[in-house]
Amino acid sequence: MTKLALDISNLEASVGAIEILKGVDLEVPFGEVHAIMGPNGSGKSTLCHVLTGRSDYTVSGEASLDGESLLDKTVDTRSRMGLMQAFQYPVEVPGVSLTEFMRESGEERGWDDEDIESRVAEAGAQYGMDPFLDRSVNDNLSGGEKKRSEIFQMAVLKPKVAVLDEIDSGLDIDAVREVAEGIERMRGPEVGVLMITHYSRILRYVTPDRIHVMMNGRIVESGGPELSARLEEEGYEGIRARLGLEAPSAGAAESRPVDFFTDTPFDI
Ligand code: ADP
Ligand code: MG
Repeated sequence: MTKLALDISNLEASVGAIEILKGVDLEVPFGEVHAIMGPNGSGKSTLCHVLTGRSDYTVSGEASLDGESLLDKTVDTRSRMGLMQAFQYPVEVPGVSLTEFMRESGEERGWDDEDIESRVAEAGAQYGMDPFLDRSVNDNLSGGEKKRSEIFQMAVLKPKVAVLDEIDSGLDIDAVREVAEGIERMRGPEVGVLMITHYSRILRYVTPDRIHVMMNGRIVESGGPELSARLEEEGYEGIRARLGLEAPSAGAAESRPVDFFTDTPFDI
């Protein structure tokens, strides 16, 4: 049987009376890269937040990492179990150097100094992060550099499940390609990668094993890498029409501006 890095079944999440995830089923085996695509407001970031344990949501259903149940665990336990998220909008941490941050994170995992140093050196060289090691985390980095830093951190900490929320958003095409190469390099038998993307352009440079389309809180279609060409052709509107799904109501999140810090749309 395939060993699953991440196994999600019938996951539902709501905030107050608002249902956001309406029964998500998803299996990401070790060694695979899966992409979730979907229009704004479909619940992609909520899925990340629910997996990592943000407390705003009322959650039901199941999710497990390498066979161990996630949803009943605290945020830091989930992290120690091997779950790691790269953020859509990485937060700047002035005063904490990237090296220091990696050392603390490594110590939390029980690694000795030598081990941490060699991981940082190896990943630093691999991802061209040497110039940033002594600088504060994400402070004054360009959009592309921040995303590169997120992937570097994953290369050091080696999660079992890596969740990348819109790692490609706001980047120019060269930075998208660079990030994509970083994701391909992350691939390995000990990790399952879930990359979330709004645009299909990153899929020109990363070939996921599976692509899932999320709309209105559900995965409405899954397929192989060939699905990305179809998506590009049809657009989300076309998929909605083909699958007979209702368009979101007027004024729904899709058209709302997003709070860059928390990544949730403002209510206007
Ligand atoms: P995506 O990442 O696919 O753009 P989100 O998961 O950010 O979508 O949002 C999905 C829907 O859930 C949106 O309608 C959004 O406004 C709503 N939502 C997400 N988080 C919250 C929250 N904390 N409070 C209220 N509504 C939320
Ligand atoms: Mg989002």
